[in-house]
Amino acid sequence: MKYKRILLKLSGEALMGNRQYGIDNDRLKEYATEIKKVVEKGCEVAIVIGGGNIFRGLAGAATGMDRVQGDYMGMLATVINGMALQDALEDAGIMTRLQSAIEMDKVAEPFIKRKAVRHLEKGRVVIFGAGTGNPYFTTDTAATLRAIEIDADVILKGTRVDGIYDSDPEKNADAVKFSSLSFDEVFEKNLKVMDMTAFTLSHENKLPIIVFDMNKEGNLERLIDGENVGTLVNM
Ligand code: UDP
Repeated sequence: MKYKRILLKLSGEALMGNRQYGIDNDRLKEYATEIKKVVEKGCEVAIVIGGGNIFRGLAGAATGMDRVQGDYMGMLATVINGMALQDALEDAGIMTRLQSAIEMDKVAEPFIKRKAVRHLEKGRVVIFGAGTGNPYFTTDTAATLRAIEIDADVILKGTRVDGIYDSDPEKNADAVKFSSLSFDEVFEKNLKVMDMTAFTLSHENKLPIIVFDMNKEGNLERLIDGENVGTLVNM
């Protein structure tokens, strides 16, 4: 096993599956199955999930809503997704804990780093909800921050694209995929991996990032085993 402790970042949109909004139950089950495979191997898994399938602060701001208000709504959306994922994982027989950056003690523990690490050591999947707890940030930044805090070996950004390309592969048929990149190359080539706040935080803390296709069965397990899946960004 190449990676002993991982931080898996899933976008809210990924949870939509083929729907236009909300949570697709089949997709949720698939993710639970994929995550279970690596947990059973002894990999320690922490997860940050986005909220874009339900609400994004910027979308609210575009319609005239106060940005901060919208961002808090977005953070609450990540808790809803976290609860859904928690349910799916427990249904698959995996022990979990949900920790929230905004206190809501009926549904989640508060985020406490030492507790999170203890849960991981006991083989529980820890889901971090409510992003960083602050407006003007993204769940990519929350994922990076939590990964550093819990000393994860790597942040795995599960997307519907199978890595980082020199141009958008969904728009350009000639797009070429990179198997690995340095942080400097990503800056030089102006590639989009995560938003700049998140990316800079990873860079400064030497936290490797792997962008991969989470919707392809077995990919997560192959990655943990050290196979060359997706694109690795490293020092
Ligand atoms: N958000 C925030 N602070 C954070 C994380 C998230 O304000 O630390 C809000 C922000 O409005 C964002 C929304 O929550 O648009 C959902 O998160 P994100 O857009 O990152 O989700 P994803 O794109 O991964 O589905």
